[in-house]
Amino acid sequence: MNFLEERIAKDGIVKEGNVLKVDSFLNHQMDIGLFDEIGRELKKRFANRPINKILTIEASGIGIAAVAAMYFGVPVVFAKKAKSINLEGEMYVAEVESFTHKTKNQVIVSKKFLNEEDRVLIIDDFLANGCALQGLIQIVQAAGAVVEGIGIAIEKGFQPGGQIIRNLGYKLESLAIVDAMNPVTGEITFR
Ligand code: 5GP
Repeated sequence: MNFLEERIAKDGIVKEGNVLKVDSFLNHQMDIGLFDEIGRELKKRFANRPINKILTIEASGIGIAAVAAMYFGVPVVFAKKAKSINLEGEMYVAEVESFTHKTKNQVIVSKKFLNEEDRVLIIDDFLANGCALQGLIQIVQAAGAVVEGIGIAIEKGFQPGGQIIRNLGYKLESLAIVDAMNPVTGEITFR
């Protein structure tokens, strides 16, 4: 097991509905030492890519993206969840269905902060069905920028997102891939 898998095995809690709770170290209370290791590992995995910007989505991607950005020496832009108002014009907009809340959000990025010169690393905490990533990819494409890669902390490998994104041809690196989890026993199996 790598450092992140070890931490998930120790402190992750398996909930009903295919939800893995990691709020004691990843997305509510945040263990910044762990984020530092995640950032260093992502830099290693994308070392040969000409990345000049990191894109993530609020809220729980921001912490990981910010720490990783220290290793890449690039700015972080996060897609904001917006109310359904008319945002055409200055914003790139994509529709994203939330895995945990089952609601649809429009997410927006200002055209000021993403353009055709950008070579983007997308970062997020979780990959489940891939809706969040597909929204972010759509935004990068709308800007005429290039997705250089996608870095995920925890991929739930028994849900379809990982395969969908890899089939689209993107370099997707997940630091921990959960292949099975049992809400009764709490057992978590890694790939
Ligand atoms: P997707 O769009 O791939 O279905 O889901 C990704 C988003 O849903 C992530 O940004 C993450 O915030 C949230 N998410 C998906 N699965 C889980 C989970 O098992 N636990 C937690 N805490 N968040 C999840």
